[in-house]
Amino acid sequence: MNYRISNRAAALSPSLTLAIDSKAKAMKAAGEDVVGFGAGEPDFDTPAHIKDAAVQALHSGFTKYTPSSGITELRQAVADKFQRENGLTYKPNQIIISSGGKHSCYNAILATCQEGDEVIIPAPYWLSYPEMVKLAGAVAVVLPTTDQTEFKVTPAQLRAALTPRTRLFILNSPSNPTGSVYTPEEIKALGDICVDAGVLIMSDEIYEHLLYDGATHLSVASVSPAHYQHTIVVHGLAKAWSMTGWRLGFLAAPEPIAKAIDAIQSHSTSNPTSFAQKGGVAALTGSQDHLPKWLAEYSRRRNFAWQRLNSIPGLSCVNSKGAFYLFPNISKLGLKSADFCARLLEQEKVAAVPGVAFGADDYLRISYATSLANIEKGLDRLERFCKGLSG
Ligand SMILES: *Cc1c(COP(=O)(O)O)cnc(C)c1O
Repeated sequence: MNYRISNRAAALSPSLTLAIDSKAKAMKAAGEDVVGFGAGEPDFDTPAHIKDAAVQALHSGFTKYTPSSGITELRQAVADKFQRENGLTYKPNQIIISSGGKHSCYNAILATCQEGDEVIIPAPYWLSYPEMVKLAGAVAVVLPTTDQTEFKVTPAQLRAALTPRTRLFILNSPSNPTGSVYTPEEIKALGDICVDAGVLIMSDEIYEHLLYDGATHLSVASVSPAHYQHTIVVHGLAKAWSMTGWRLGFLAAPEPIAKAIDAIQSHSTSNPTSFAQKGGVAALTGSQDHLPKWLAEYSRRRNFAWQRLNSIPGLSCVNSKGAFYLFPNISKLGLKSADFCARLLEQEKVAAVPGVAFGADDYLRISYATSLANIEKGLDRLERFCKGLSG
């Protein structure tokens, strides 16, 4: 039998994060003392009132199909969130609830991009963006950045990358994997360029609430009515409510785009899990008291890890202003990032994600969504490893 794999599927790169993760998990299962810096998810539990709402929905028999783009109650709660927190006015039919923020990104790209289109993606990027662009048949145009600019693209860089084929610009602030946050002025400048060029923006704002050191978040959609018309805002419940396993994301878009996504979703996944959506309503409309506590804890870990990383000879690291990642520069240590991480896991049993997975081979991603004790232990080991390399 010739199991011919489609061009679309065959073009995808295997996920390096998952490869490291499965090796680390296998080592742990074999009883080894692995410190994991690979996690792309909060280490806190989902707040109890959110779980209770889903449990109650299950018990009351809320277990059937819902409208494919989500229950009206949740679409309204999302519209209210955008009004309240971002000054953005959306009707519920402009909101699509999906099975995770990743699914929302994929729907947005699939609904707007096709063969012949170019999609501009600043690097370091969230590793799924270029693969989603490939699945849509379009071409990813990657704009490299370094720690010298806090991993932010400049307006000049964006302008120079535009061609008549440019269809979409992907903006992710706060960023996974770097933790960088664009200032409101920077957001406005990048948004202006897209509006002037008639280019759509997919703004992935899933880390909106995870900000430190007084950093602020501006949704590019809120800059002006023209920016609103050019933007698809992607968001979700995974990060600020610690609901990664619930698979709930959402997006807000101009009506024709939302309508197209509604059609895509109705013929592919249908609705996100019914009772999870009730949990989503509780997350958006209920108490947000967990968040200041989580932020204080993340920031404590971040400052500790940032200082420790910079004290290791050969490493340097800009501090993050958002999300829960640091992205230290390893270029002085003489190993490619994939080699570095493979050996670090092998020798010191520390799992980190190689920067090459995010289009930036001079770096590693360290997640501080793990306890301070783990961070301390893992960075002691990282230091010993780096000293071994340079010594
Ligand atoms: C975590 C994440 C998402 C969404 O994740 P889901 O688990 O699918 O909700 C989207 N974008 C970025 C950059 C992320 O890190």
